[in-house]
Amino acid sequence: MTHTKSAAILTDQKLVNEELIASIAEVAMINVQHCADLFEIPLSLAQRIRALHTGADTESPRNALMDLSTTPAPLWRLSLSSYDLMRMTCQQSPMFAPELERYRPIVARLNRLVVGMLVRYANEPVQAALVCGVTSHALLKAVQEAACISLLDCAANAGRPLIETRLSHAMLDRFFITCDGQPVDPGMRAIVAMTSSTEHEFTVLKHEFEVHAASEGAFLAPQAATNRRSGKAPSFLLKPDDARLVMKMLSYRVKPIDIERCMADRGIRAIQLERLQSELFPKTKDVRDVQPIWSNATRRLEATSVLLKQQVLISLGLSPLQALVEAFDFHVQHHDADARLSLPRLLKEVVLPLYSREAVVFEHCQDCDAVYVSYEERMSTLDCPLCCLVYRKKLGHQRRWKNYVESRAGAQTYALAA
Ligand SMILES: [Zn+2]
Repeated sequence: MTHTKSAAILTDQKLVNEELIASIAEVAMINVQHCADLFEIPLSLAQRIRALHTGADTESPRNALMDLSTTPAPLWRLSLSSYDLMRMTCQQSPMFAPELERYRPIVARLNRLVVGMLVRYANEPVQAALVCGVTSHALLKAVQEAACISLLDCAANAGRPLIETRLSHAMLDRFFITCDGQPVDPGMRAIVAMTSSTEHEFTVLKHEFEVHAASEGAFLAPQAATNRRSGKAPSFLLKPDDARLVMKMLSYRVKPIDIERCMADRGIRAIQLERLQSELFPKTKDVRDVQPIWSNATRRLEATSVLLKQQVLISLGLSPLQALVEAFDFHVQHHDADARLSLPRLLKEVVLPLYSREAVVFEHCQDCDAVYVSYEERMSTLDCPLCCLVYRKKLGHQRRWKNYVESRAGAQTYALAA
C-alpha cells in the first residue's frame, strides 16, 4: 500500500471523528437530553462533552475536543445494515422522537460523510471492513448497486445517525493529560480507542470467537490433511489468494516451518519456501523479532487490536489465517511506524495458544472499558495493560465520572462534580 493511500485512510476516519464530535457538541449546546437521546449516549457523557466544548471542564486542556477528533483511529462504529440502506433510498424515516426532528440537518451532514466513505471503499471489501468496520457483503453490494449521488441525497432520510460513538467516560479520562500533566501521545490514544469495548460487545466478541474457533477447529491445519509425500510443487499450484498470503507472511519473516504448520492442508511445504524467503527477503537486522509481546503493555494492546480487526474480517468470510495477516498488515501500515509488533511473535505467543485454547484468553477490564489478551492464570493483580499504562503515567488517571449520578439538571450537576 502506498504512503498516500495510507494517509487517505486515516484522513477519512479522522473526518468522520471530527464531524461526529462537532455534531455531538452542537446538539449538546442546545439540549443535553436531546443529545443523549439522538446519539444514544449516557446523559452524563453529553454533559461532559458540552463542558469540554465550553471550557467549563477545567481539568482538561482547552483544545481537548480538537485532540479527540484528530485521534488516528475511529471513535465510532458503523450502525447500518443493507435493509437500512434500502429503506433510506425509498422513504424518509421519522426521528426517534418528534422533538429530535429539528436536528435532522445535523444528522444528515454526518450521514452524508459516512455514506461517502462507504461508497469509496465499497469495491474493496477488506479495506471496507478494516476502515469502516463493514462485516456484511450484502451491505457492500447494496452500496455498489445504488447510484452514488442518490445515496448522498438520501442520507437525510435516515431517522438517526448511521454510526454509534465509541466514546465513554473511561476513554475520556485516559485521553487528554497523562498523570504527569503531559499531553497524551496520539498513537496511544488510537490504541485506547481501538481496544475500547463495552461489556456487551465483549460478551458478543467472546461468543463469536468461540463459535468461529469451534467451527474452524484449531488455527493450525489438521495434520491428517497434509500430504507431505505427494511430491507436488506447491508454489506452482497455489491459488492466487494463497500465494499472496504466503508472500506476505514471508515478507514479515514468519518462519517457513510455521507457514507449513498453518497451511499444511493446502500442500505448502517449508523446504520450498526457505529458498524463496532467503532470495526475496534476505535477512537483515530485524527489530521485529527481538521484542516479546507479553512483557510490554502497549504491545499487548496492539496485539489485541490486530485480533479485533481479525474478527471483523472473519465475520466478512475470510479464513482466520488470512484475516490475521490482513489485519496485521493494516496495523503495520497505519499504527506501527516503529515496528513494535512482529507477526512471527504474534502468531507464536498469542494466536496459536488462543486458538488451541492453551492458556491465552480475551479479558475485559471494567475500569478501562478495554478488551485485551491475557493468560488464563494471571501472573499479577494488575493484569489489564491499560491500567498498567495509567500506573506508569503514560495515560490520564480515572476521575469521578464512574460514580457520577445522572440528572436532567445538566451543566449544573457537572459543575458540582468537577
Ligand atoms: Zn484496566
